[in-house]
Amino acid sequence: RNEVDDKGGVVVPKMPPFDYFPPPYTGPPAADILAKYKEYLRPSMFYFYSYPLNVVGGRMQYLFDDKGRRYLDAFGGIATVSCGHCHPEVVDAIVNQTKRLQHSTVLYFNHTITDFAEAIANKLPGNLKVVFFTNSGTEANELALMMARLYTGCHDIISLRNAYHGNAAGTMGVTGQSNWKFNVIQSGVHHALNPDPYRGVFGSEGEKYAKDVQELIQFGTSGNIAGFISEAIQGAAGIIELAPGYLPVVYNTIKKAGGLCIADEVQVGFARTGSHFWGFENQGVVPDIVTMAKGIGNGIPLGAVVTTPEIAEVLTCKSYFNTFGGGPVCTAAGLAVLNVIEKEKLQENAFVVGSYLKERLTALKDKYDLIGDVRGRGLMLGVEFVTDHKLKTPAKLETLHIMGQMKDIGVLVGKGGFYGNVFRITPPLCFTKEDADFLVDAMDYTMSKM
Ligand code: PLP
Repeated sequence: RNEVDDKGGVVVPKMPPFDYFPPPYTGPPAADILAKYKEYLRPSMFYFYSYPLNVVGGRMQYLFDDKGRRYLDAFGGIATVSCGHCHPEVVDAIVNQTKRLQHSTVLYFNHTITDFAEAIANKLPGNLKVVFFTNSGTEANELALMMARLYTGCHDIISLRNAYHGNAAGTMGVTGQSNWKFNVIQSGVHHALNPDPYRGVFGSEGEKYAKDVQELIQFGTSGNIAGFISEAIQGAAGIIELAPGYLPVVYNTIKKAGGLCIADEVQVGFARTGSHFWGFENQGVVPDIVTMAKGIGNGIPLGAVVTTPEIAEVLTCKSYFNTFGGGPVCTAAGLAVLNVIEKEKLQENAFVVGSYLKERLTALKDKYDLIGDVRGRGLMLGVEFVTDHKLKTPAKLETLHIMGQMKDIGVLVGKGGFYGNVFRITPPLCFTKEDADFLVDAMDYTMSKM
């Protein structure tokens, strides 16, 4: 589909027009900032690009660098920007609330927290209606794991190999990648086979993987467990949608063993999959505890745990509080995010544009052997690069190269998976078909030159 010039050469794809220009950059030179980064900050994630971007502005699906260059942000922060960078309604909600009341403690109440809690509860099925606010996904998952242990009186948790759930001791324990684990105490966690349709031993047969959970409980625990935690589409693991039919069987098994089912919706939730508002709904299950963060604040630090009134009883104000969780500015932002998602029909857009983008990426897979798999749902899509289709040998260097070249054309994508060979495409949900075309054309152009 790439455009060809009059000499038959492929033309560098052009970014769709956009009528916003950031004010001229007046900050320090990029080299000075980088020098300070090296001296004062760790860790550095800049290994993604040979020369990192000095990002100085953002608007909807675009980021701007210090030279005024525009980039299509197809990573959406890290799946954090749901409505669009600096969406005017979210910005207004934050600014107005900041002027009125910037902080309140847990000793008093105000309506931003109750309005947002009610709005989230109204989006969830069943009796999931009690909300605990946190400041991040890690904190939300830590709290969910603790609640499952307190409620059941058991310690053992089942999670999935390859999963990522956070970077504190408990969440690092349930994370299933050596890359993200340290030698700190992470007891009582059992990692089940990942129901990964591309690399997993049973392909797309969800029920076969589910049997492994039964066996883990039988042979690795006393038979009674605290719970099970998983995403419906794993994000950091490389956009892996759990094999169909997996969650219903596993949720039954867990319930029989006395455990609670925790859905980690930190990346996949809040309209991203398009077909449903929550990722778990794609497998037709209802969890006991749902955790969320990232997109719920459009980039503002905000997380939440939602559960039933009965399970919520395990925590009282004498045993638990969170200084910043659910602060007025963050919950005002969250409420604005929900309003924008509804008003601008962003879930529907994620479905329509996501399906179109997946179709175009799948066509690209037929063109280039280097693409082993295209997967995901809505605006949570993955492209896995391999040098050999049978062996599925990860094409790590090629992935980095394509990512770097696409950046130079003006498209930013994320990278992930255990081997670092998967593009993670999780743009703001305002992404358009023209953006999808630009992304695929930039990828096609780059790969045609390799
Ligand atoms: N859970 C999932 C599925 C995530 O992707 C992440 C972060 O990438 C987390 C939890 C941790 O969230 P945070 O980085 O906000 O602590």
